[in-house]
Amino acid sequence: MAAKTNEGLHDAAERLAAVESNIAGTAREAGRAPGDINLIAVSKTFDAAAIEPVLAAGHRLFGENRVQEALGKWPALRKRYSDARLHLIGPLQSNKAKEAVALFDAIHTVDRPKIARAIAREMEAQQRSLKLFVQVNTGEEPQKSGVMPADVAGFVKLCRQDVGLEIIGLMSIPPVDEPLAPHFAFLAKLAAELELAELSMGMSADYEAAIQFGATHLRVGSAIFGPR
Ligand SMILES: *Cc1c(COP(=O)(O)O)cnc(C)c1O
Repeated sequence: MAAKTNEGLHDAAERLAAVESNIAGTAREAGRAPGDINLIAVSKTFDAAAIEPVLAAGHRLFGENRVQEALGKWPALRKRYSDARLHLIGPLQSNKAKEAVALFDAIHTVDRPKIARAIAREMEAQQRSLKLFVQVNTGEEPQKSGVMPADVAGFVKLCRQDVGLEIIGLMSIPPVDEPLAPHFAFLAKLAAELELAELSMGMSADYEAAIQFGATHLRVGSAIFGPR
């Protein structure tokens, strides 16, 4: 497990390097090019002072799960690191679409027509183009956001044809208490059927498995920043 690899590493830059080398090794074992895998350093709950060393180490791709929290730290960080890219990995409310489109470079959680329309409207108004993923509730958990598996094809079609949004991939957060492999395999199969190239799956505890199943975007928080 990734967290184990990082035992004894006390600073975020060291842990980042360990995760990167682990990703490269796992990718090669799986016959994949490490460069095809994007490591999103999930900095939620960590303040600018904790994020800065990871930027200073050269990392540029980050994830946040709340618009408001991200607004509190990233505009200042970006003044110094203008090439930092930020992905929204948590649920989005349509009243936050304007701020989200202005701040983020990608949204992983498109999951209903209302939010798809709000994002489309803001991208048009702000003349910005974000990378968009549809979140899939692969475990069909009632409390979790994401499109139910049976509805994904229809929803992607609606985004593309009715709303005019280009969707590049699928994202999921599998249930915590189930084996992950079937969820990763299912998401990969669904993406292939829908001709979507990108797969956002895999977190600190399971990113190696996600790589084996074709993940292109790993969302890794605690293995880099430490426990929350
Ligand atoms: C917090 C979070 C992560 C990162 O979780 P870790 O277990 O700390 O790696 C990944 N994805 C989402 C959607 C999250 O909210």
